[in-house]
Amino acid sequence: MKIIAIGRNYPEHARELNNPIPSEPVIFLKPDTAILRNKECFYLPDFSSDIHYEAEIVLRIAKEGKHIAEKFAPSYISAVTIGIDFTARDLQKQLKEKGLPWELSKAFDHSAPVGEFIEINQEHDLLAIPFQLLINGIIVQSANTNEMLFSFQKIISFVSARITLKQGDLIFTGTPAGVGRVYAGDILEGYVRDKKLMHITIA
Ligand code: ZN
Repeated sequence: MKIIAIGRNYPEHARELNNPIPSEPVIFLKPDTAILRNKECFYLPDFSSDIHYEAEIVLRIAKEGKHIAEKFAPSYISAVTIGIDFTARDLQKQLKEKGLPWELSKAFDHSAPVGEFIEINQEHDLLAIPFQLLINGIIVQSANTNEMLFSFQKIISFVSARITLKQGDLIFTGTPAGVGRVYAGDILEGYVRDKKLMHITIA
């Protein structure tokens, strides 16, 4: 399986990092080794001194598809959860300045924790999903998927026109404003529609 991630999909987050608002989705990939299971520990890596959390709604792909039309996209989503797109912000800044790809700052081991999934039974379940990230009990990110620049349908259509989606692939749909650094000992808790789906400890 593969992980496809969307960058700059919430206008307020693009602004907080001084990035332009994109006219089409910004995408990057993480390997399957980036997955960190729920309730496990994330160990701060020694190659960065500025690991940031980015809470994102994660889609799980139901079946193989390419060139998926937007109107059919919902049937390709089997489940959703909340995940973290851990980012080595110091490395990413250096890579961006040099015009290099972001993988070293985004694709490292365990850079993609995912929570417990909620099955999607009807298209309605995908509308306006509120989600929150708490660190040590304090809300640091709170948003609704209706604030996204590119909808789930648009993302699936755009990506599948270029990269075939397969059953079990994950799509990280972008982070809202409020990103920041994590420290050893932090407890990260992710909520979707008031349900706690993710609990990750930083070590
Ligand atoms: Zn992200």
